[in-house]
Amino acid sequence: MIIPGEKRPWNDIDIYLQPFIEELKQLWVGVKTFDMLKKENFTLRAALLWTINDFPTDANLSGWSTKGRYACPCCAAQTCSRWLYNGKKLCYMGHRPWLDENHSFRYEHNLFDGTEEFRAAPEQTTGSEIFSMLKQMKFSEEDDPTEAELWKKRSIFFRLPYWKHNILRHNLDVMHIEKKFDIGIQHALHPQVLPTGKSFLTPAIFTMSKKEKEVFCNVLKDIKVLDGYASNISRCVSVKDRRLYSLKSHDYHILMQDLLLVALRSCMSSEVTSCIIELSNIMKSICGKVLMVEELEKLQDRVALTLCNLKKIFPPSFFTIMVHLLVHLPEEAKVGGPVFYRWMYPIERYLEDVDTRYDRPTRNEVFISNDLTKTYLFGSYGEPVGSVEIAELDDISWVQAHRYVLFHHDSLDLLRT
Ligand SMILES: [Zn+2]
Repeated sequence: MIIPGEKRPWNDIDIYLQPFIEELKQLWVGVKTFDMLKKENFTLRAALLWTINDFPTDANLSGWSTKGRYACPCCAAQTCSRWLYNGKKLCYMGHRPWLDENHSFRYEHNLFDGTEEFRAAPEQTTGSEIFSMLKQMKFSEEDDPTEAELWKKRSIFFRLPYWKHNILRHNLDVMHIEKKFDIGIQHALHPQVLPTGKSFLTPAIFTMSKKEKEVFCNVLKDIKVLDGYASNISRCVSVKDRRLYSLKSHDYHILMQDLLLVALRSCMSSEVTSCIIELSNIMKSICGKVLMVEELEKLQDRVALTLCNLKKIFPPSFFTIMVHLLVHLPEEAKVGGPVFYRWMYPIERYLEDVDTRYDRPTRNEVFISNDLTKTYLFGSYGEPVGSVEIAELDDISWVQAHRYVLFHHDSLDLLRT
């Protein structure tokens, strides 16, 4: 494990990965290992299937920059982007190539970017092609560089003999894509704040009035869900300020897939709600425990169509690279299988403790002050409900408690006999 310091290693992460790659090379050939159960030696072999990472780290691991005009690692040099002069940022709206080749949207230039679209969806560059391109690496700042010139480095993973044959090498993280999508929707639904401090409502069907926002917040405030299904979302809703705050990644997941459609139905037009409901259904299908290849092929068409429908409702600034990545998720699920094996929830949960204890001093203080583990002998502490009260035991009570544990705890059975 690498514990991050003050600065991220960015593209130099390969230096830290060198020992890991050397071990993977050994494991590919095979390492003599002893099987305790059968009491015999065997050759242990292992291979790296793919990496699970957030989107910025994708650039550091793969070498393809996830910023700028060509930010999509799947479309690569064929990424369709446009610079927004007023918004001062890039948007990625070209989703019509994924539609059926005779779909009416391909001809409706007025609804989209003023052009008709006849291109097919971009073909993904294979690992072998990338490997041979990167053999003679060149860096370029030209206006119209070739794909080989857009790579920032040759990933250290290509030192593994099998890496170029892997179809899916770096997973797009559904957890972060879903979160950014939800933030994008919430941002688009809320009024813009002018430099004078006053709120300004864009005259469009997707913005919510003050009254509608109150209804939306009240629905979320009063919502009741099963224990263990979600965190207490109502604590993140401020009806007075009419906004949501301090949401965690899993809160966005629940909002996106279940709560948002319930809350929006009461206050938005059917045109907007139907698009968002379809989006939620798509996310649910992609995150399903069982995926059927035929269903995923249909889902690909639904994703492209929904993104085109959203283009008719939301402004271009809504279409960030994270929104665009949605179009690649069905294809990725066909190669990699169910999403819950490949997203960052379990990793983030595992890293939370490390992150908290070593990386964030402010959160660290909070963590230590509420740390109940030290008051228990075997770490079998429960989760406190409501306000926490820690009682101090006197000397006699300590001895009594200590003896009780020594006489009754199962893990001491062997020592007692
Ligand atoms: Zn793309």
